[in-house]
Amino acid sequence: MPRVIIDAEKCKGCELCVRACPQVILSMGEKINTKGYFYAQVHDQPRCIGCRLCGLTCPDIAIEVEVNAVQYQYFPY
Ligand code: SF4
Ligand code: SF4
Repeated sequence: MPRVIIDAEKCKGCELCVRACPQVILSMGEKINTKGYFYAQVHDQPRCIGCRLCGLTCPDIAIEVEVNAVQYQYFPY
């Protein structure tokens, strides 16, 4: 099963990942990080299809997606 890992401290709450997810399983949480931003969270992990659009969309590289035990990391362009 794919696994999405969101680094709350890297998130700036832009919500781009929330809009990008075709399964609509990402949302903004109610807690803030140390920078004062509400951060994204996965609210229905079992429905994730491992498409990695969230990680590709995030401008702050706050999301990693693990599919079939391969952990995809994203780097700034
Ligand atoms: S990998 Fe795809 S389905 Fe899973 S949370 Fe990210 S955008 Fe949504
Ligand atoms: S796209 Fe990245 S910075 Fe923006 S809300 Fe999602 S995790 Fe946070």
